[in-house]
Amino acid sequence: MKVIIAGAGIAGLTVAGLLARTGSHDVTVLEHAPSFGDAGYGIGLYPLGGAVFNALGKADELARRSVVLNKYIVYGPNGDELQSVDLSALLSAYGPMLGISRADLIDILSSCVPDGVIRFGVHAQSAELSGDGIIVHASDGSSFQGDVAIAADGMNSALRTWLFGEVKRHDTGFNAWMWWAPPGVVAAHTAAEHWGPSSFVGLYPMLHGTNVAVGVPKALSPDPTGTPTEIVKALRAIVSEHNPGVAGVAELWDLGDSRPFLWPMQDVRAPRITALDDRMALVGDSGIGFLPTAGVGASNALRSAAALAYDLSLADSASAQLSVRRWNARVSKLVESNQEDSRQLAKVMMVKHESASRVINAIMKHMPVTTMTKSIVKSMEVPF
Ligand SMILES: Cc1cc2nc3c(=O)[nH]c(=O)nc-3n(C[C@H](O)[C@H](O)[C@H](O)COP(=O)(O)OP(=O)(O)OC[C@H]3O[C@@H](n4cnc5c(N)ncnc54)[C@H](O)[C@@H]3O)c2cc1C
Repeated sequence: MKVIIAGAGIAGLTVAGLLARTGSHDVTVLEHAPSFGDAGYGIGLYPLGGAVFNALGKADELARRSVVLNKYIVYGPNGDELQSVDLSALLSAYGPMLGISRADLIDILSSCVPDGVIRFGVHAQSAELSGDGIIVHASDGSSFQGDVAIAADGMNSALRTWLFGEVKRHDTGFNAWMWWAPPGVVAAHTAAEHWGPSSFVGLYPMLHGTNVAVGVPKALSPDPTGTPTEIVKALRAIVSEHNPGVAGVAELWDLGDSRPFLWPMQDVRAPRITALDDRMALVGDSGIGFLPTAGVGASNALRSAAALAYDLSLADSASAQLSVRRWNARVSKLVESNQEDSRQLAKVMMVKHESASRVINAIMKHMPVTTMTKSIVKSMEVPF
């Protein structure tokens, strides 16, 4: 059976890596970037996603290249502690919560894909049924024929747009800016977040440095064409005004040679995650995209990609569509529910007004974060 995958990101590489282990299918991955990029941002990995590395035979490498996050602390704008959660207790039955740079994650996943499978510099832009199969067309005029095609081309999926047109985004009204500060800005193994009005600051320790995330309302967000220094200076001014408890931590504003990475805090949900007579599956952010608020997008991409690889590994050309239908029945509701949790969390993490922030912070002292992430933790019990 021939499988065409558009996108060598977290989901696409997972499907390709797992199918390579079964050796039963002919897989081609189309990636529009000319090569794998720079360090990007940091990723928090729940055991939901981390477990997939067992199936890939890469669990030890994942452990070596990541940091265990066993504490999660939320502070109010003046630096007062609102919540302190022992993550190892929360996740004890499932495995550790890990922090890893996207570059390291992609490096591990891509090492599972045999040479020659990934075609770099190919932008998938449309697909159509053809005889007993499907063809994916690229913007350079090349075409790729398979029994099944997988849209794993991320949040701004060209294939989703081709299939369904522009799908309305769920927009929080905030922009997030991420960069790498030196190690040690936050206590070891501790994810710390500072929730203030009009400013959210997250600090996540990773192997090579501290991943900093600053969320601000779009109306206040710095001009992205500014220099890195100008962007960080503007963000610091906003945080100093609204979230002074963390603004004074000088190292947090030390970019080194990293460049702030802008991520509009929007997500998207395709009307369906299968298309073209079930010869196409939209996996990861292309089908059900994630805000980074619950830190669970990569885990869902990994886990639903692993489920798809499993269903495809059972199929032959004649049952290719059945395998995509079966995958859809298993994962769509579950992933949608995790997406909903990320949206709900965004409502309390990203608030504009001081009065709303005061109310949320008062509630936070009494409503454990565990309540808000209950269904994410529960989803680890549900078969994908
Ligand atoms: C700033 C930020 C912080 C995040 N933090 C976390 C976190 O802490 N925890 C977590 O679990 N998740 C986090 N996420 C979400 C997580 O990164 C995504 O959910 C995950 O990457 C989705 O995987 P994917 O494979 O669907 O998409 P991606 O990993 O984005 O991969 C898509 C791939 O497709 C390629 N591509 C795009 N268009 C085309 C095309 N037309 N043709 C061919 N190739 C194409 C892209 O170059 C890319 O390689 C974060 C996301 C961001 C942006």
